[in-house]
Amino acid sequence: MLDKIRVLLVDDDEDDFIIARDIMDDIPGRNYVLEWASSFDKAVDIIRERRHHVYLVDFRLGARDGLELIEKSVNEGVTAPFILLTGQSDRETDEKAMRVGAQDYLVKGTFNPFDLERSIRYSIEHAKSLEEIQKFNMELEQRVEERTRELAAANRELEHTNRTLKQAQLEIHKALQKEKELHELKSRFVTIASHEFRTPLSTVLSSASLITKYKSAEDDDKRLKHVGRIKSAVNNLTNILNDFLSISRMEEGKIYNVPTTFDLHTFNTEVVDEMQGFLKDGQRIDYQHLSEASAVTLDKQLLKNIILNLLSNGSKYSGEGKTIWFTTEVTEQSIRLVVHDEGIGIPDADKVHLFTPFFRAQNVTNIQGTGLGLNIVKKYVEIMGGTLDYQSELGKGTEFSITIPQTAQT
Ligand code: ADP
Repeated sequence: MLDKIRVLLVDDDEDDFIIARDIMDDIPGRNYVLEWASSFDKAVDIIRERRHHVYLVDFRLGARDGLELIEKSVNEGVTAPFILLTGQSDRETDEKAMRVGAQDYLVKGTFNPFDLERSIRYSIEHAKSLEEIQKFNMELEQRVEERTRELAAANRELEHTNRTLKQAQLEIHKALQKEKELHELKSRFVTIASHEFRTPLSTVLSSASLITKYKSAEDDDKRLKHVGRIKSAVNNLTNILNDFLSISRMEEGKIYNVPTTFDLHTFNTEVVDEMQGFLKDGQRIDYQHLSEASAVTLDKQLLKNIILNLLSNGSKYSGEGKTIWFTTEVTEQSIRLVVHDEGIGIPDADKVHLFTPFFRAQNVTNIQGTGLGLNIVKKYVEIMGGTLDYQSELGKGTEFSITIPQTAQT
């Protein structure tokens, strides 16, 4: 047996209730139970119980009206249908009723059991469909929200992947760049090596074969001259090899700064002494330590390499008989070394490339060199925490100055 359809009539006139009940009784099948709320407030309470399948609401409810009741109930979430009962049929009331949420309206005194049954059935069906649509809508909204959340998460994931990819790309690019630089370095190394080694080696060869030809005692001088040439060629080769070695060790990150404390003046005097054998005829190094203080804490090996490179450049790029000026100074703040020559100078156009490995200025093509010394000097100064400056004027001379802050040593 089907459940009865419970109907609540909201009407402040008992006569109307009796009439409605009679009409309802005449509906074939009598599948309805009619209850009655006689005032607005009573109706509010009963409707809140949500026991009824449909509400028949009179337009007039004392000082209040049925539209207000319908609107209030719909706003409170009542989903069962409302049918408005009005005194007269007019379009305006009909529209108002629909606007506040009524499913249908019936004009009092004109509807018969058939009309009422049809209106109730339709309203219930309509309300059910509405509820389903609303449920469906809500589900849809939920799904949209879920989807949005999933999308946002996927988006974040993508962004993360993107960043990782970009990072990887950057690293690959860096590695490739490094690889390229290394390759260039190697190919330049081969070019320079074959070129730079050839001259000293041919000197060694020719001097050695000449020595064998000078047999008599009078040829002693000549023999000595060639022994000297061989020595200097071998020294040259050693220097080139040392430069190559330094560059490759720097590339591998194998140059370390190991400071010890020593007297700078004494140390430099010895380095300058070592340089004597390499100077051109009549050249001299004027070394002066300008400050009282002379104790420093530096890496001796790095420092010696720097000074030898600068002094030998000073000699190499100056004419015979020229002086190379070398000064050092130790203050509380810094250690300063300056090497100054009166040589050929550096053309302005070449200055930007000066510290690039294997770079040589255009005015030195007939002077031997690898273009590695200054690069090594600059790197070593950096490893020691110092800075390098230079000034040069073509045909006048060049000055390199190095400053190492005392704080860099602690
Ligand atoms: P190398 O002397 O073996 O060529 P360096 O790296 O020591 O290599 O120097 C690079 C270039 O800088 C030199 O080829 C030369 O053109 C220029 N240079 C360096 N020192 C001096 C200097 N004292 N006077 C003039 N030019 C210099």
